[in-house]
Amino acid sequence: MTGQLECCQGDIARQSDIDAVVNAANAELRPGGGVAGALHRAAGPRLDRACRPLAPIAPGEAVITEAFDLPNRYVIHCLGPVYGRDRPEAELLAACYRNALELAERHGLTSIAFPALSAGAFGYPLEEAARVALATVHETLPRCPGIAKVRFVLFDAGSAEVFQRSL
Ligand code: ADP
Repeated sequence: MTGQLECCQGDIARQSDIDAVVNAANAELRPGGGVAGALHRAAGPRLDRACRPLAPIAPGEAVITEAFDLPNRYVIHCLGPVYGRDRPEAELLAACYRNALELAERHGLTSIAFPALSAGAFGYPLEEAARVALATVHETLPRCPGIAKVRFVLFDAGSAEVFQRSL
């Protein structure tokens, strides 16, 4: 693996040293709660307008927009699987991480920050979500030589610890 992989506790909407932040989006790419709420609030209403022509997206898919008032260049919007509904959920979750990284690579980006996709409102157990996330990033990074840094941003100390342990 070429890129650097790190985990930290924090707010995905405040990662000013990162090219693209990943949104745990809903299918319609609307603001909503959790990560999507935080990113849309910080990005301002232009983000919602930029999302309109790209929606809806399917589980596992990733699309990219500008980041507007966020301190980043881009937002990559991923729709994670709803645990117990969208199957096979591990493959769909892995597809989110893979598609996001490949999109970042194609745009010439060097750094990307992910939240714990699907691990909030979508109910994915955190330990399993962490395993899928880290394994997929590890597997995909060799195909993305331009990406020098991948950061996982976890909202609370407990989740950060789970990711750190998995890492
Ligand atoms: P999903 O609908 O994909 O489950 P959520 O936004 O509900 O997405 O939650 C995904 C994870 O992100 C959860 O672990 C949640 O605690 C965490 N989270 C919520 N807000 C933020 C934030 N501002 N920064 C980083 N992580 C966040």
